[in-house]
Amino acid sequence: MLSPPPARPAQARAGLPSVDRVLAWPGLAGALAAHGRSLVLAAVRDELAAQRSLLAAAADVQSPLVPGADALLAAITHRIQAAVQPVLRPVFNLTGTVLHTNLGRAPLPQQALDAITAVARGAANLEFDLAAGARGDRDDAVAGLLQQLTGAEAATVVNNTAAALVLVLAALAPRREVIVSRGELIEIGGAFRLPDIMRSAGCKLHEVGTTNRTHLRDHAEAIGPRTALLLKVHTSNYQIQGFSAAVGTADLAPLARTHGLPLVVDLGSGALVDLARWGLPHEPTAAETLAAGADLVLFSGDKLLGGPQAGIIVGRADLVRRLKKHPFKRALRCDKLTLAALEAVLRLYADPDRLAMQLPTLRLLVRPLADMQAQAQRLQPLLAGWLGAAWQVTVDAVMSQIGSGALPVDRLPSAALRLQPAGLRRGAGRALDALGAGLRALPVPVVGRVADGALWLDLRCLDDEAGFADQLQRAAPPGAAAPPP
Ligand SMILES: *Cc1c(COP(=O)(O)O)cnc(C)c1O
Repeated sequence: MLSPPPARPAQARAGLPSVDRVLAWPGLAGALAAHGRSLVLAAVRDELAAQRSLLAAAADVQSPLVPGADALLAAITHRIQAAVQPVLRPVFNLTGTVLHTNLGRAPLPQQALDAITAVARGAANLEFDLAAGARGDRDDAVAGLLQQLTGAEAATVVNNTAAALVLVLAALAPRREVIVSRGELIEIGGAFRLPDIMRSAGCKLHEVGTTNRTHLRDHAEAIGPRTALLLKVHTSNYQIQGFSAAVGTADLAPLARTHGLPLVVDLGSGALVDLARWGLPHEPTAAETLAAGADLVLFSGDKLLGGPQAGIIVGRADLVRRLKKHPFKRALRCDKLTLAALEAVLRLYADPDRLAMQLPTLRLLVRPLADMQAQAQRLQPLLAGWLGAAWQVTVDAVMSQIGSGALPVDRLPSAALRLQPAGLRRGAGRALDALGAGLRALPVPVVGRVADGALWLDLRCLDDEAGFADQLQRAAPPGAAAPPP
């Protein structure tokens, strides 16, 4: 009896080249040099395995189609590109929301980027007092500037405002009561709910008043032996209008003082300067809130301030000292990159006359309508040509919003490109979804907003118009066949 012939490897049986042969292809030499053998090897193996299972699935067909070398190389190169692409990367924010939490909030000024690079590369005097040659305090980089800009006695910084609130509550009100108006029990972005934060910080929430009306006497009657502090929260992402009443900082302050209780104000967005100077709606500043009698004021670094993510706490020196001694301060502290960026941004505030030029957040907020309109006119033919006859591209007036809870009801007039399927009624939703996905799949993803049967690209935050136009000219429009390499 004859023994069966030795089994050929599955690869060869399928008519596919071996892994080693593919690795030796000149077309992969560049990728091997750039990314190393392991990554390229994994891409080759994965692609050959995928082709084998495709061929196996088509085994009943007389002669299944084995991909040619060019097609294999293109697929492997695509896998390599996908593998080396960073997960976190820049996008074009054309949502119309300037401070978009999901898109990383405030864009940083060049000065902050330079400061980050300078300290990131090596050692820095983060907690080292160069004059004394001894251990220093990491808040020193920014505390002095914050004191100057807000008139506060002292300042400290943690990871974000949620962290600032947790620290304040844990350090100043453990197992005791905190009085808050019912009209101010905020939820921000789902994960930040005031009652939950209170519970996790180990203190008891004492709600006073009603949703629409709270009076000074409600706060006064709630004060008892277990009260630790009065908390006022800026209702940053909504407004209670109509028959409403809330007690301002200036009215709460004397009550807090009479009972020897700290008055803490969570401003959320917290502007450092009066935005009315640039024709924007007024948002309470840290300085005026302290002047009105708050003992501590909390606000974010990456909202209207225009800096990196941080939670800033300014106010009475004795209270800030207690915060800094609490173990949570260590757990919630900022790193040197954040502190370097924040210092650089705060320094820009020393020259308010040039702030709108130097601070990207403010520059975007005050961008003249005519700028966006002219940009829309320039880009309309480009987008129309790129998308072809299946899409109607028009220039439309829209309203941008500031975002991140700042000035919730105020809107800024802007211009947008409105992308709408031409003539299509049925399947329009699917076409819009596909277009949105195609724009997000570009090398620098473009994020717009779908509303009223169209995809809207609000141009307020389009700084790099050349980069935007350039990538459209290079990329195939969504749904089109890939251009020849
Ligand atoms: C945004 C906001 C917060 C949370 O700030 P983060 O810096 O995002 O943690 C807290 N309170 C108010 C009133 C806010 O507007």
